[in-house]
Amino acid sequence: TVPGVTDVRIAQTAERKPLRIIAVASGKGGVGKSTLSANLAIALHRLGHRVGLVDADIYGPSQARLMGSEDQKPQAREKKMIPVAGTLGIPMLSMAHLVEPGKALAWRGPMVGNALSQLIDADWGETQLLVVDMPPGTGDIQLTMVQKHKPVGAVIVSTPQDLALIDATRAVSLFNQAGVPMIGLVENMAGYACPHCGEISDPFGTGGAETAAGDMGMPFLGRIPLAIDIRRQSDAGDPPAAGEGIHADAFRAIAQKVAA
Ligand code: ADP
Repeated sequence: TVPGVTDVRIAQTAERKPLRIIAVASGKGGVGKSTLSANLAIALHRLGHRVGLVDADIYGPSQARLMGSEDQKPQAREKKMIPVAGTLGIPMLSMAHLVEPGKALAWRGPMVGNALSQLIDADWGETQLLVVDMPPGTGDIQLTMVQKHKPVGAVIVSTPQDLALIDATRAVSLFNQAGVPMIGLVENMAGYACPHCGEISDPFGTGGAETAAGDMGMPFLGRIPLAIDIRRQSDAGDPPAAGEGIHADAFRAIAQKVAA
C-alpha cells in the first residue's frame, strides 16, 4: 500500500457535507403532511436538488405508497441501510421498511428513536437534502429529531380550520425550543377545487393560515387546495408534483421558497 493514501480517503470522507434535514411537521394527523412531504421532495428534485425522503411517521407510514416503492426492500451495506428508489428515482426510506404492518404502536420511546436514527444515518450517497415526514404531534421521534439530528429548518402543515392551527402552534413551539428555524407554514386543503370547473370555494374562509403564520412570526409558503386529483394521484403512487398542471406549479412554488 502507498503510505498516506488511507489518510487522504479518511480526510475526503470527513469532508463530505452532512445532510441538510428539512422536517415536515404538523400538530395533528390527517392534514396532508405526508402528501406535502412527498410532493415537496419531488418538486425539490425537479428544481435540481439532490433530495432524499425519510418517512418517520411511525404511526401511519405512507411514503412507500405515495412514492410508488411499496414492492422494494432496502438492502444493507457495512451495517447501513441503502435507500430504495421512489418516484423519479428519489432515494427514500420509511419506518414501514423497519416494522411489520400493525406492530409499530407497541414500540417504546428508545426503540422509536433508534429506528429513526437508522433511517437518517443510512447510506444516502450523494443526497444533500433530506425531507423528513415527521409523525404528528410532539413525542419521542420529534425529540430525537430535533435534539440528535438537528434539522436546518422545519415546514409546518396545517388545514384552514382553527383547531388544526392551534395544534400547529404546539409543533412550532417544539422546534422553537430546540432552536430549529421555521422555514414556514403551508396551508393544505385550503379551499375546495371543483373537479368539473376548477373553481375553488372556501368553506372555511380564507386567509386564516396566512394570518396565523404572521402571528407566529414565520413565512407563509403557500396554499394547496383540497382536490380530488391530489388524493387520487397520491394514492396511485404518482404525486401531482411529478407531472404538469396547477398542482405541480403550486408545489414547485413552495419548493422554491423552501430551498431559498
Ligand atoms: P397526514 O400525513 O397529515 O396524516 P396525509 O398526507 O396522509 O395526511 O393525507 C390524509 C388524506 O388526505 C390522504 O388520503 C391524502 O391523499 C388526502 N389529502 C391530503 N392533501 C390533500 C389535498 N390537498 N387534496 C385532496 N386530498 C388530500
